[in-house]
Amino acid sequence: MREPVLPGASLQRACRLLVLFCALHLSVTLLYYMFGGETDYLTELRHFQYRQRANATLGPAEHNATQEPPVVTPAAALQDCPDSSPLLVGPLRIEFSITVDLEEVRRINPNVMDGGRYKPKDCKALQKVALIIPFRKRDEHLKYWLHYLHPILQRQQLDYGVYVINQDGDSTFNRAKLLNIGYKEALKEYDYNCFVFSDVDLIPMDDRNIYKCYSQPRHLSVSMDKFGFGLPYNQYFGGVAALSKQQFEKINGFPNNFWGWGGEDDDIYNRIVSRGMSISRPDGITGKCRMIRHDRDAKNDPNPKRFDLIAHTRQTMNSDGINSLTYSVRSVEKFPLYTRVNVDVCQDKPC
Ligand code: BGC
Repeated sequence: MREPVLPGASLQRACRLLVLFCALHLSVTLLYYMFGGETDYLTELRHFQYRQRANATLGPAEHNATQEPPVVTPAAALQDCPDSSPLLVGPLRIEFSITVDLEEVRRINPNVMDGGRYKPKDCKALQKVALIIPFRKRDEHLKYWLHYLHPILQRQQLDYGVYVINQDGDSTFNRAKLLNIGYKEALKEYDYNCFVFSDVDLIPMDDRNIYKCYSQPRHLSVSMDKFGFGLPYNQYFGGVAALSKQQFEKINGFPNNFWGWGGEDDDIYNRIVSRGMSISRPDGITGKCRMIRHDRDAKNDPNPKRFDLIAHTRQTMNSDGINSLTYSVRSVEKFPLYTRVNVDVCQDKPC
């Protein structure tokens, strides 16, 4: 006769089976850890160890690069442009038989900003140059100037702005006073430290003739076709000249009382020499330039007083200059390639 199965005995068997199952599960898991695949934890652990080793073998900069986003160079941290621009090409072909379309000039100079402002993008320009052009009714000449000069000035890596100072009305033309006005007006816009004063009809024939300032006042148009590619006389300072802010202030700017053609550039020369400075010039090849031929302008006849005036520069220059300048601005117009300042120079009347 069979022994009766007690209920406590089957419970015991069930418990034994459960313990066996758990032990089996534990050993399989242990074997899998030791010899088989990786858990997420192990993978993470290995990656962590790899990063630790990698960082230990890198320099500080590379170390940063693996942990932080790349550093963007701010404009202020740009390197200085080189003393001599690598973009210069040397002698240039200049001719005035071509037709200039300002829309086209604008299109091929996309980096020139409104008002004729430009600065290099990949280096910090060594000088901030205001180009000042005394002007009246010479729009055709201005087109050539803009067409030729904008590409040259950009290749020279200058931070520059172009200011056309237009003498409004029918008073007698006063070139030097317009230049003084250009100096004042340009400084209202930007912290320029160099001023290039240029006639509108003069174009350099070599881009190595840099339109910037030097340790002495610079005469740039030293080899003009009009004068057989030479100087008409040694003291000649007409056409295009560059003075730093300090040099300009040292001579009290330019005279305001030369009405009509001639003599004002000789007066400026006298001012420079009387303040102990000398004239710096490029050589006769680099300094070659072409002038646009034209008839004499109305209201710009030779000034009969010029000889007497330049004989007394030393006596007059302290009281006649940037410190006695009066004028009134009628309007300032921003064009894509230049800034035009329309001024009343107040001949024979208070401003
Ligand atoms: C005048 C200057 C002029 C030069 C060249 C001189 O007699 O005084 O103003 O630039 O001739 O034409």
